[in-house]
Amino acid sequence: MNEAVFPKPAAEAVERPAPQPPLGLLAELTHRCPLRCTYCSNPLELDTRSSELDTETWKRVFTEAAELGVIHVHLSGGEPTARKDIVELTRHAAEVGLYTNLITSGIGVSEAQLDALFEAGCDHIQLSMQGADAGVTEQVAGYKGGFEKKEAFARAVVARDFPLTLNAVIHRMNIHQVPDMIDKAVAFGAKRLEIAHTQYYGWALKNRAQLMPAREDVDRTIGEVESARERLKGTLVIDAVFPDYYAKYPKLCNGGWGARTLSVTPAGKALPCHAAETIEHLEFWSVRDHSLAEIWASSPAFEAYRGTAWMKEPCRSCERRHVDYGGCRCQALALTGDPANADPACVKSDFHERLGEIATTEASTVADPGAATYRGFRKR
Ligand code: SF4
Ligand code: SF4
Repeated sequence: MNEAVFPKPAAEAVERPAPQPPLGLLAELTHRCPLRCTYCSNPLELDTRSSELDTETWKRVFTEAAELGVIHVHLSGGEPTARKDIVELTRHAAEVGLYTNLITSGIGVSEAQLDALFEAGCDHIQLSMQGADAGVTEQVAGYKGGFEKKEAFARAVVARDFPLTLNAVIHRMNIHQVPDMIDKAVAFGAKRLEIAHTQYYGWALKNRAQLMPAREDVDRTIGEVESARERLKGTLVIDAVFPDYYAKYPKLCNGGWGARTLSVTPAGKALPCHAAETIEHLEFWSVRDHSLAEIWASSPAFEAYRGTAWMKEPCRSCERRHVDYGGCRCQALALTGDPANADPACVKSDFHERLGEIATTEASTVADPGAATYRGFRKR
């Protein structure tokens, strides 16, 4: 870096701040899942059951998280209820004072298991929604009968007077169903619906050509969400995240790298974001070898892109560098080849125009769901 051309910002202390305590922990308890969603953001190389952390290690991680200042733990995967110890883990997380959010497909969770989870202290349920009917749900998730099971699960949660959030990841296969998904969320009794356009990591990146929506469809959903928000005030809260590929500026990713949250993979690697393993040169510490506090304070992977000192131009001198912290490192790597580049969703990125071309080209190809690759463990 040429310091004469890109002078160092004066406030070095601000550029590399000491980390504040994290607020959230994404605990990916397992990569096992009955569904095979084409948009899944799990890595292509899934952690096997034999590599998963055991019960006692997860309990230690939850205790350390609470001591570190974490408020929310998201019990996720894969399908977290595929673990036999899910109730025990939930109970422990609640006992050490964490707010527990179970992120589930709802498939294979019995009413008795649901009761046990609530009794153990589960605070909130977030249910994935792949479509508004059986056909689209099956096409997206590669699982027959999924929609009916999800509906039954949603109704069982609400019948217990429990807060339910539905999470619908939107892409070309289901974008036409956004109004129907909103109606279903109301019919199921959910209090909140997240309409989140696909982030292209893992299986979603592999299937991007089948998933990329057209610009006009995205614009239409913005209007649909806005009018539904107005109509459903007091009944349903709708959060919406729209796609990066048609954006002007990137999103603040995970509250900033190593700033607010951390993820732990089923095998125990601690990551600054759940897709960070795609940045292969980073050194990830494992919770098997280090405490969460050590990892948060000193792990090389967390230090790599913390603050703004690592930035190159155009981010380095940009007035928005403390707003979005250069966007997503994983997207910068996937689309520009260098994780230290500005996220190409940014208009100031040299790759931004190319990003728009990719989106337009892929969205205009004839959708062929049969060409999508369903998520699954690699055959060995
Ligand atoms: S996105 Fe689908 S396949 Fe991936 S973990 Fe969630 S429910 Fe399972
Ligand atoms: S140049 Fe970098 S910091 Fe500025 S808006 Fe773009 S991505 Fe954000």
